[in-house]
Amino acid sequence: MIIKDIEISEIKIPLVVPFKTALRTVDAVDDILVRVTSDTGEVGYGEAPPTAVITGDIKPSIAGAIMNILRPTLIGRDVDDLIGNAAAMDLALHGNNSAKAAVDIALWDLYAKSCGKPLCRVLGGKAREVETDVTISVNPIEEMVADSLRGVSDGFNILKIKVGREGLKDVERIREIRRAVGPDIKLRVDANQGWEAKQSVRIIAAMEDEGLDIDLVEQPVKAHDLEGMRYVTSNTYTPILADESVFSAADAIEIIRTRAADLINIKLMKTGGITGALRICAVAEACGVECMTGCMLESKLSVSAAAHLAAARPIITRSDLDGPALCKLDPYEGGPTFDGARIIMNETPGIGITGVPFTPIKL
Ligand code: MG
Repeated sequence: MIIKDIEISEIKIPLVVPFKTALRTVDAVDDILVRVTSDTGEVGYGEAPPTAVITGDIKPSIAGAIMNILRPTLIGRDVDDLIGNAAAMDLALHGNNSAKAAVDIALWDLYAKSCGKPLCRVLGGKAREVETDVTISVNPIEEMVADSLRGVSDGFNILKIKVGREGLKDVERIREIRRAVGPDIKLRVDANQGWEAKQSVRIIAAMEDEGLDIDLVEQPVKAHDLEGMRYVTSNTYTPILADESVFSAADAIEIIRTRAADLINIKLMKTGGITGALRICAVAEACGVECMTGCMLESKLSVSAAAHLAAARPIITRSDLDGPALCKLDPYEGGPTFDGARIIMNETPGIGITGVPFTPIKL
C-alpha cells in the first residue's frame, strides 16, 4: 500500500470554559487535520494543535511543514514502513514535532485500518478502558473550587490542577480544593514550569505537611532546568512528573539516568506521533519508570490516538486525555466513547473515527 496523497484541513471547536495555565489562556481548539490517502483509496487521519509556548508550533508552520516538506517526502513511500517513514520525516525536517505527529498518527490509523484491527491491538494491547483526569484551569480560588466540584459531579475521580502563577498561594488553592472534594478524589498538580527549584520544594513540602495527599507534581521548574528538577525530586516525597522537559527518548534517558523526575509525561505532539511515543515507552519499560499520557488542546481525533497508546502499553499508568471533555461539541462520527472520566475503546479498525469533517485547504 503506497502513500498517494497528503492533505490538510482545519478544525475549530469552542471550549466549555477558557483553558488557563501558568503559560497561556485559550478559548477554542483550533487545529490542523491531516488526511493521508493510499493508492488503494483507504484514508488515515491525524491532528495537530498549535501549542506555541510548548512545542514552538503555530498553525502556519504546521501547515507549511506538512504541505511543503512532509508531503513530498512521503508520497510514493510504503504505508507499512512506519519506522522508515518517521525517519524520513526527521531527516527532511528538524523539529516541527506537531506537524510530524499529525502525519505519523494518520499513517498509523491507515496502517491499523489495513490490518483490520483497532490501533491499540496493532500496538500490542487490546481495547480496554482508559481513565482520564480533568483539568482545572488556574483562576481565583473560589472559581477553582467550583470547577473542581463540577468535575467530580461530572464523574471524574482525578483532578489535574493548574498552578504555578502565585508561588506559596498555590498551597491555599490545593488546600481549598482538597477540603471541597474530600479525601477520595485524586489530585494532580501541574505548575507548567512556573516555580523555581527551591520554591518548589517549599511549596510541595507544605502540601505534604498538611497531608493534602498529592498524586504527583508535574513540571515544577523550567523545561531546560533538569538540575533544578532533580533537586526538587530528591528533596520531596511527592512523585515528580517531567512534561515539558521530555520530547524524545533521548530526553527520557537523560531524565531517568540523572533521576531528575520520577515519572514521564508522553504527549504525541512532543514526540512527533505514535512512533516517537513508542520509543519513550520502550525506554520507560526497560527502566520500570511509569508514564502518563497527556494531550495539548486537541479534539477527539488525536486524543483517541493517545488513548489507543495508553490501552496498549501498561507502563502508561496514568492518563490526562481530557481534550474532548473540554470541547463544547464532538464534530466526529465514531471513535472511542468519551464518557466523563471513562474512555471506552472499541473494535473499529484504526483510531476508529469514521466521520471527519474535512475540507482540504491549499497553501
Ligand atoms: Mg503539563
